[in-house]
Amino acid sequence: MPRVSFSADLELAGSAVLVAGAGADALAPVRSLLDAGALVRVVGTAPVDTVVDLAERGQIGLDRRSPSPVDLDAVRLVVVADPGLDDVVRGWCADLGLPVVASRRPSAPQAATPGTGSVVLVGGGPGDPGLLTVAGLEAVRGADVVVTDRLAPLSVLDQAPPHAEVVDVAKIPRGSFTPQERINELLVEHARAGRRVVRLKGGDPFVFGRGGEEWQACAEAGIPVEVVPGVSSALAGPALAGVPLTHRTLTQGFTVVSGHLPPHAAGSTLDWGALARSGTTLVVLMGIATLPAITEELVAQGMPATTPALTVTDAGLPAQRSVSGTVVDIAAIGEAAGVRAPAVTVIGAVAALAQQLPAPVGRPRRPPGGSSAAG
Ligand code: SAH
Repeated sequence: MPRVSFSADLELAGSAVLVAGAGADALAPVRSLLDAGALVRVVGTAPVDTVVDLAERGQIGLDRRSPSPVDLDAVRLVVVADPGLDDVVRGWCADLGLPVVASRRPSAPQAATPGTGSVVLVGGGPGDPGLLTVAGLEAVRGADVVVTDRLAPLSVLDQAPPHAEVVDVAKIPRGSFTPQERINELLVEHARAGRRVVRLKGGDPFVFGRGGEEWQACAEAGIPVEVVPGVSSALAGPALAGVPLTHRTLTQGFTVVSGHLPPHAAGSTLDWGALARSGTTLVVLMGIATLPAITEELVAQGMPATTPALTVTDAGLPAQRSVSGTVVDIAAIGEAAGVRAPAVTVIGAVAALAQQLPAPVGRPRRPPGGSSAAG
């Protein structure tokens, strides 16, 4: 019998919500629930890496086991993110009179014609679904498969068609990850089978995103590839923290670098002396672990010790915060404040403007036409 349902918007700030199922279908509801301020507990066997990462960063609770009726205690809403759990969890909720919704209503995969597939590399922006481009959203809405990263705007995954498969290929810094070669193979395999593949990435695909390698792998396999540029966290992170990267009276440019290797490390190709003296705003990505070495080198190479600096973490997400200081103390201030990746550090006179400008107003937005969960 078809289910009759009623769609509603729920105010969930501060409310406990159980997500039953920890696979890739949990990503969109977990992100949307966090954006709504809910207290989220995920219960499921075999959690995907992004769910584990959110738990390790203290943003959700996670139990790696099958859900049971005790999980419904003191919960205001239950979201079923695993079709295999749907009937049993709905039964428990019916007994308790608890509202229950399905994160997605999956349908059978659509017939695909081998040889007709394609890949779209979509830059998702820093995490706020409002910062995904219109073209990026269109691509997600037309996908048969979405291969996603942990830093992508995960709440837009609920915009993928019901038949679409979501694959989580998160790379957790110093943690679990899917090797890049495997990601390349996945894109090629799905496209060869005739599917429209969206590779949803955080920020811009070609800014430290290894999108270039994915493009090459697809091109070598004869798969048509398209790119939808995204709003890089290198630009959005500082902006959302109130730092204009250029300012007419202060600086005439900015330089974006990866901090994943410290100065003097084997394999580092950056000229830190030139960067210290460049007179441009310096934007460092992937630099939390190496920030003490980087800032020390910049000062040793002639950057004034009074140069303002700011680190912003989780830009565009409800957990966004920033800390300010100078090039000399920003690493220690960040460490004392418990700053962790993902974070962007801005070094230069413009970093001081964050304190002078009124606090920027920003909060996660819904994607246009975002659906409210109903089941
Ligand atoms: N292609 C991405 C960057 C990938 S490298 C882009 O253009 O944004 C991953 C690094 O990006 C992180 O280590 C962090 O430095 C930065 N980053 C990504 N998302 C972020 C966010 N929401 N807040 C702060 N930094 C972020």
